[in-house]
Order: sequence, then structure tokens, then C-alpha cells
Amino acid sequence: MAIINYEERTYNRLIGRECFYCYGPVYPPGVMWMGSGGDLVLHPPCVLELYLRLGRDVLQIEQTTGQYFAAGDMHKLRTRLVASEMQMQGASYDR
Ligand SMILES: [Zn+2]
Repeated sequence: MAIINYEERTYNRLIGRECFYCYGPVYPPGVMWMGSGGDLVLHPPCVLELYLRLGRDVLQIEQTTGQYFAAGDMHKLRTRLVASEMQMQGASYDR
């Protein structure tokens, strides 16, 4: 994952690319993920919309199949997200 902004020239090639979610052009700030089939570029609000819909789909799978993927793991997921964020900021996180 990377943040597309005007200061980080590494991702300048992605400025104006089509958003994976809404198809609109993405100008900084944007979000980029390297995927196996190419880079995904999204507007920050579209990341949240996609995140919610993907989570809803997993919930629906859980409800219809009885297979549970996230139940009981939300604390672990949050801990991983916070640790990842702290690592990106160069700080340590010990919880
Ligand atoms: Zn978008």
C-alpha cells in the first residue's frame, strides 16, 4: 500500500489513473495497492466504500455457510492495523 501525493515522486505515474472503485481519475491524495494483475488506485473515500462492501460480503459468506473468518479476531485485526501504522511511522508498539 502506498499513499499517492505530490511530494512522493515514486507514484507520480499513477496520478490521474482511473479509480478501481468509481472509475474517476485519482489526484492526490490517493491510495495505491500493488496487485498481482496490476496496481489498484483509489480515492480515499472509495477505499472505505470498498472496505465496507468487502467486509459485508465476508459477513454474508459467514452467515450463509457457517464458516467464520473474522469472529473473535477483530481485536487481533485492530492490533495488527495499529502495529502496522506505528511501524510505518517508525515507532514501536508493544501490546
Ligand atoms: Zn473513486
